[in-house]
Amino acid sequence: MKKDQMLPGRRSALRIVACLGAAATAGLLVTERSGTSGGAAATRPAGGPQIASGPRAAAGPSVRASGYRLQPMTAYAPPRYRRALPPVRQRPFLRMSEAGRTMVLTFDDGPDPRYTPDILRTLREYDVRAMFFVCGEMATDHRDLLRRMADDGHVVGNHSWSHPLITKLPPSGIRSELGRTSEVIEDVLGTPPLWYRAPFGAWNKHSFEIGAELGMEPLAWTVDTLDWAEPGTRTIVRRVMEGAGPGVVVLSHDAGGDRAQSVAALRSYLPKLLDDGYRITVPRR
Ligand SMILES: [Zn+2]
Repeated sequence: MKKDQMLPGRRSALRIVACLGAAATAGLLVTERSGTSGGAAATRPAGGPQIASGPRAAAGPSVRASGYRLQPMTAYAPPRYRRALPPVRQRPFLRMSEAGRTMVLTFDDGPDPRYTPDILRTLREYDVRAMFFVCGEMATDHRDLLRRMADDGHVVGNHSWSHPLITKLPPSGIRSELGRTSEVIEDVLGTPPLWYRAPFGAWNKHSFEIGAELGMEPLAWTVDTLDWAEPGTRTIVRRVMEGAGPGVVVLSHDAGGDRAQSVAALRSYLPKLLDDGYRITVPRR
């Protein structure tokens, strides 16, 4: 590992300054209370809204707009960095709020050259876009796969560097895990990730704060295929089809173990979902 990859700070800080003030457009996802999905149980602050609608929550207070005018540095930022920092969430998004039969497929822990190319091939065959929450330590070793994800229009998100239980880390450790991973993604793709997902679905206040500082929104999931337990391809397919519904976000894995079942399951459930009229898409920000 190169030493410069261990220092997430400087460019991220510059990016944060440059980000202040533009209009946020996250708005297709909702959070909600749920005891069974999304891994959101780790953080359930009392008194928070049960449903935070994206557009209102993400629109940003007006003070930020005036802050933008008081920030001369932003005038010199490249246009792609003029994106508002998202608000600090109290829980992750669990599903899309967009009307209609839309679903999001997400793949975590990769990229892994044994499985990710097969998943990319299937997604390409059906011309659909998905999300890949990559680990920095995998991404830095398989940059070509990261490029292929982006070339095919998929969204590359941040899943920490080494997949730790971040609720056990001090804030500096969370910052390092998320920051280094964002740096690798930006190095390879030219733009930093806009989404992150906590390993094991274990979120905490610091991770929401640091994720927001890095310009990312937290995304959990609605339906967990539990594919990591290798329950059998047919079981994975059944879980996806039984969990399918408008706005559902599906969690699967393209790395972290033997993912042959996950690869085979996608080949089966993707055409079924499309036949059922679902549009497989990615959230916009
Ligand atoms: Zn994971």
